[in-house]
Amino acid sequence: MSINVNISHREDFPLLRDSNIVYLDNAATSQKPDCVIEAVEEFYHKHNANPLRGFYELAMLATEQLENSRTTVKEFINAKFEEEVIFTKGTTESINLIANSYGMNFLGEGDEILISIMEHHCNILPWQFVASKTGAVLKYLECDMDGLISDTAIEEAITDKTKIVAITQLSNVLGRENPIARITKTAHEHGAIVVMDAAQSVVHVKIDVQALDVDFMAFSGHKIMSPMGIGILYGKKELLNKMPPFLRGGEMIESVTRTDAVFAQLPYKFEAGTDNASGAVGLMAAINYINSIGMEYMHERTLMLTKMCFDAICKIPHIHIIGAKDSNNHNGIISFTIDNVHPHDVSQILSESNVCVRAGHHCAQPLCDFLGFKSCTRASFMFYNTQEDIDTFIKSLSGIRKMMGYGD
Ligand code: PMP
Repeated sequence: MSINVNISHREDFPLLRDSNIVYLDNAATSQKPDCVIEAVEEFYHKHNANPLRGFYELAMLATEQLENSRTTVKEFINAKFEEEVIFTKGTTESINLIANSYGMNFLGEGDEILISIMEHHCNILPWQFVASKTGAVLKYLECDMDGLISDTAIEEAITDKTKIVAITQLSNVLGRENPIARITKTAHEHGAIVVMDAAQSVVHVKIDVQALDVDFMAFSGHKIMSPMGIGILYGKKELLNKMPPFLRGGEMIESVTRTDAVFAQLPYKFEAGTDNASGAVGLMAAINYINSIGMEYMHERTLMLTKMCFDAICKIPHIHIIGAKDSNNHNGIISFTIDNVHPHDVSQILSESNVCVRAGHHCAQPLCDFLGFKSCTRASFMFYNTQEDIDTFIKSLSGIRKMMGYGD
């Protein structure tokens, strides 16, 4: 390990600081530090007005806050232009926007949409819909049982018929990082565009949309310690410019007549209605917080906690970790099954020790089917988790089979 990762920063998070909760459901949503909560509160105390509309000072302050957040996000993901950063309510809305605005208008009969088998439902259903309406064919990029997508699989799946490759950078079940740069290179060689779902990766991997050369990217603020209800769609300017609006309404127009409308320039063309300005302010505070702690620190500490937990689980009989055999490929996510114990029971029993984990299909049913189970339990970590969290979790986990009446 290159850096010392002993500090958890748990005290920055009121929900954790003021309770004995062992929060291991970070892949579902992250906890919020004081600075984010205070930034949202300050917006409502001092800056609240409808942004992008009024010409009085307060409204201009609200607009300034929103635009400062856009600049912060632009730098965070290394976009080339601010207008390539669009506020949405989250990853789901961002991907639906791309599917409806790009997919529905630029795909036709026989074109192929390629998604991976490990996608979250929000990167499956919109493409099923586009395929059903346009006559395009939805295909799957397969992984092996460890979650690895091989170069051969990529080379075979992407052809001249492929028009869109939509793929997650990091699976919410497996925690494994996918070879996005490699996929993008192959896709571009065949004239396809790439949509990257960064909902899980954004907190683990430094995202650089220019270096990855992805055409679209989506993430949700709530996974990186900002409030719920704010998310980002990044898109290359030349693509966004040729796409029609997804939603129509206030503030996304230049002018409107009885019969027609001229749409506003980017990014406003895609931001119909009142923006979630307080959410954007919270997102800006979250990114500033991340920058102050350092992505590398967060990542290294998460890997350290993941390894600690992974090694401990491997010693418990009858528990099977899903995906890669080495903890470094799990990036804060450990999904597992326990022989003869339903994941819902696992989650409920852990809850008695104040341990919060997720159980179910994790909105990734095609992946669960492929891997041969209906549901599993997932523990997921952030840098603010502690060794004590892992100890409590492992202690409780070790006793589950006995509690359910099995001898070991
Ligand atoms: N993609 C992935 C990989 C996810 O893990 C999630 C959230 N679980 C989403 C998309 C959807 O995010 P949201 O519900 O915030 O839109």
